Amino acid sequence: MEKVVSLCKRRGFIFQGSEIYGGLSGIFDYGPLGVELRHNIKQYFWNKFISEREDVYGMSAAILMPARVWEASGHTELFTDPLVECKVCHERVRADQPEAIKDHESKHKGEKVEWTEPVNFNLLVQSKLGASEKSLIDVNLRGEITQGVHVNFKNILDSMHPKIPFGIGQIGKAFRNEITPRDFLFRQREFEQMEIQFYIKPDEVEGKKWFEYWKQFAWEWYLGLGFKEENLRFRQHDLDERAHYAKDAWDIEYNTPFAGWKEAWGVHHRADWDLRRHSEYSNEDLSYFDEESKERFIPWDIECSGGVDRAVLFVLLEAYTEDELGGEKRSYLKFAPHIAPIRAAVFPLLKNKPELVAKAREVYSMLKKEIPNVQFDDNGNIGKRYRRQDEIGTPNCITIDFDTLGENPDLKDTVTLRNRDTGEQERVRIEDLKEKLQ
Ligand code: ATP
Repeated sequence: MEKVVSLCKRRGFIFQGSEIYGGLSGIFDYGPLGVELRHNIKQYFWNKFISEREDVYGMSAAILMPARVWEASGHTELFTDPLVECKVCHERVRADQPEAIKDHESKHKGEKVEWTEPVNFNLLVQSKLGASEKSLIDVNLRGEITQGVHVNFKNILDSMHPKIPFGIGQIGKAFRNEITPRDFLFRQREFEQMEIQFYIKPDEVEGKKWFEYWKQFAWEWYLGLGFKEENLRFRQHDLDERAHYAKDAWDIEYNTPFAGWKEAWGVHHRADWDLRRHSEYSNEDLSYFDEESKERFIPWDIECSGGVDRAVLFVLLEAYTEDELGGEKRSYLKFAPHIAPIRAAVFPLLKNKPELVAKAREVYSMLKKEIPNVQFDDNGNIGKRYRRQDEIGTPNCITIDFDTLGENPDLKDTVTLRNRDTGEQERVRIEDLKEKLQ
């Protein structure tokens, strides 16, 4: 983990939030490469869960919502974690995280640490809006993006006239006043989620069918981020562990090097909890009329919910590889090509030969029109450039040499295409490059 954290800072993936002011616990900023990686993961979610389907709509709800929304959803009362306080130094720690407790106790060498009884601590982040005392209203930064979809259920029905079953998905920031933010991007106080709420008829058989369907769909999607199958597993939540809204809940877990199996993604059977509660609290009718069966009902919701930043972290941990290439030790990021921040780098063999540089620029411009995340690099010698690109996970490097210019007429207008993982190079025609990189 430490190696990945330090690579992330050194190579411009992820920085501690507001670092020059001492940082803010549980808050991180994304640099130029991190933001591309995160964008590619989000785009992959959006394509597979929304754009490529006929039965899921996309939307984007606001972060600020009136406190009443969170009373309706049950978060004001139930969105809590157990908190204990160290009687020696009064630091507060999450009671159900043995690693956090152990870490804290190890700070008090030789002292006997006693803890207070656990109390429930609410994770919602509160704020106020309004220009005068009188007009001030309580708002919450959303603790999950889910409620933004449910409160727009009627708007989507009235504007899009969807036929059940159908889903609504979005990506966006969520905020939780986590008691013990820790493990880099794993437990943050500000993070991003990607979710769909899939509305179905309120029926046990339908519920089971769609729950299984979305479990499988989410599994295939997560594997598609480039994970080895043995590093992922499913785990069903025990009854006492389920969130207040969940009729059934399964997580996809990743085998982390820092704490073993940890939640990456959740599939939750929320039944009619959210729509029913919002109907009651808002006095709006959030039922659905089924033209086919001529029935009116409050649909059930099967939710797929993943953390974007957790996906970024797990992808980085999975991709980090150390090996030996050509007798030299190296570390590199073995990203799946479709999520790599830089898809390919284009080099002139030598920086001081204008004819090589001009041709390399030409190839770069041609590719960049089709594949935007292509990079031009002529810094240092070619070996150094390969190492640099390997370290940030660029799947392919393209080198323009004298044969490209026709020194060997048989090889005119061909380039070398180097594979990050094997270091092997093949000669490829410039006109075939685009297809090779897709
Ligand atoms: P945990 O048990 O780890 O606290 P959770 O069960 O509360 O997570 P959900 O409410 O199901 O999490 O949120 C859905 C997804 O959002 C999680 O699978 C996870 O990927 C992500 N997530 C939740 N909390 C955080 C956090 N503090 N930092 C980063 N990602 C988070």
